[in-house]
Amino acid sequence: MKLSKYLFLLLGVALIMTVAGCSDTEDLVSDQDNKTYDESVSKDSQDLDASIDEEESEEEIEEIQEIDPEEFGVNEMGQVMVLMYHHIREPEAEWSRTPDNFRKDLKNLYEQGYRPIRLEDYATGNINTEPGKTPVVLTFDDGNQNNFNMIEDDSGEWIIDPESAVGILMDFHEKHPDFDPHATFFINGGTPFGQSDWVEYKLNFLVENGMDIGNHTATHLHLGDADAETIQQELGRIVQLVKKYVPGYEVNTFALPFGSRPKENSLWSYLVRGEYEDVNYEHVAVLEVGWDPYHSPHHKDFDGATIRRVRASETKVDGVGMYDWMDSFDRGSRTRYISDGNPDTVTVPEEFADRINADIPDENINIY
Ligand SMILES: [Zn+2]
Repeated sequence: MKLSKYLFLLLGVALIMTVAGCSDTEDLVSDQDNKTYDESVSKDSQDLDASIDEEESEEEIEEIQEIDPEEFGVNEMGQVMVLMYHHIREPEAEWSRTPDNFRKDLKNLYEQGYRPIRLEDYATGNINTEPGKTPVVLTFDDGNQNNFNMIEDDSGEWIIDPESAVGILMDFHEKHPDFDPHATFFINGGTPFGQSDWVEYKLNFLVENGMDIGNHTATHLHLGDADAETIQQELGRIVQLVKKYVPGYEVNTFALPFGSRPKENSLWSYLVRGEYEDVNYEHVAVLEVGWDPYHSPHHKDFDGATIRRVRASETKVDGVGMYDWMDSFDRGSRTRYISDGNPDTVTVPEEFADRINADIPDENINIY
């Protein structure tokens, strides 16, 4: 191992220890994020290590940024699947995916070039998926115990149930380190994921491992007839619950229970932001239930307050399951987002250039 590589490693370890010791949860989360991590390491290395091997550090940064978009088929106007799961349990049913089928989904996604990103990063356009790969967002509704279950093993030690969603995701990530365990769990009030003794551990585990906690209302309320006060109370109570267990964490995503909105359009702003007692909330993403891949966040028609999801279930669910859409991407009847690897640039083929959001500065756009 060359000396400079060794220093990189050491600095990486030092950085992780520094970040883990700080109380700001946002920082903890962004440590999962390769871009922030790599950039910080490279920057520190350049400062401390300049006399040893400045040129090599600069070369590594160049490597991240410069790719031939044609070679990777980059298209950052393509669409993204936000996958929707509910139960992970036997038997397979409309709102249940079996553990084996969930493993199969992850394997298929991985092999076909999909890589999980955080919902917040999708909604805000901060996409650092490696070049040539397609971002995908994993979501789980209702905080079911089979999403995150603790069990006692034969030696009496408590472990994460390897058949629960979090157990399966972490195991898959361990075997495929370039497949981050990013997923958002939309919880209701009461005891998220069951097992009241473990709520604090579970919520903190999610955040510390690059997963997110989303809002699904305190009582899983159908919002059709709800008034402004009720909506803010339903959402604010979840913010309070999460703050109690994970003080630095901001819940900033919301999945509509039953996919339903208030009938009054004038109330829709409360789905995005509001306040209740001692808390405020602001959502970068409001998720619907149906039914197809949604726009690139850089697309002029993207609206974070109306993001549509894809049912993660066996193929041929009315032709709109995840495998149907993966087929559509392969056949070309839908266009798939393919990343340039750089979160700061929007790279698109010329024929898609007219769809780019006009707010994106010219210097960040790369048309080829
Ligand atoms: Zn639900």
